[in-house]
Amino acid sequence: MIKAIFFDLDDTLENWWIAKTAIRDKFCGFVAKKYGLNREEFFRMFVKVEYEIVGKSLNPMVYDRKVWVKEALKRFGVKVGNKELESLDRLYWKIAFSKIKAYPDTISTLRKLNKYKKVIITDSDGDPKNEIKNKKIGKLKIRKYFDLIVTSNQTGKNKPDKGMWRFALRKLKLKPSECMMVGDKPEMDLKPTKDMGFTTVWMRKGDWASQRKEKKFKYVDYEITKISELLRML
Ligand SMILES: [Mg+2]
Repeated sequence: MIKAIFFDLDDTLENWWIAKTAIRDKFCGFVAKKYGLNREEFFRMFVKVEYEIVGKSLNPMVYDRKVWVKEALKRFGVKVGNKELESLDRLYWKIAFSKIKAYPDTISTLRKLNKYKKVIITDSDGDPKNEIKNKKIGKLKIRKYFDLIVTSNQTGKNKPDKGMWRFALRKLKLKPSECMMVGDKPEMDLKPTKDMGFTTVWMRKGDWASQRKEKKFKYVDYEITKISELLRML
């Protein structure tokens, strides 16, 4: 019997896709203009760098956007100092935060799942104090629906390391067989949890899912495209 539902945050509860579009248009537009680059080319490189990093390193600090910006610019032969990176990082988050939103059915679904324990398992954004994740969760107004929020800063390792899930299971005294994991990145969110004995649900949203359109994963039990579809499954 399912007693608890574990959720990823970005692209699962939160519509990161809209923020990413603004990052392409505004942030990458700004960077490209400043350093004399083509916006589309810079955006493509920025995303390429992101996907070379995501899932490849368990170190929470690699999700610091300064790391991505520095690397993407380096590939165009542009070197930037720390002060400049700091200011680009502030601009990135300012643009992202102006667009960050939950999906239209996120809050109503969380409210209806009131008989289940609920947990967020999320990689940090490379800030050791979790200020960015905390601000995101605050802006989405979803904190009160969760029994526990675990970030990779707490365990020192990003997904797909199992540390964050193990930490939450211990804290809430739950067995994996009593838990369901919902996430948009099968390799990161669902492979480790299926290994542990969770029921797994792939939220097919955002660019990670759209890059895996034809794919089937043996460790995915269910697929959804809207978070409210969970209500029919449980
Ligand atoms: Mg995600």
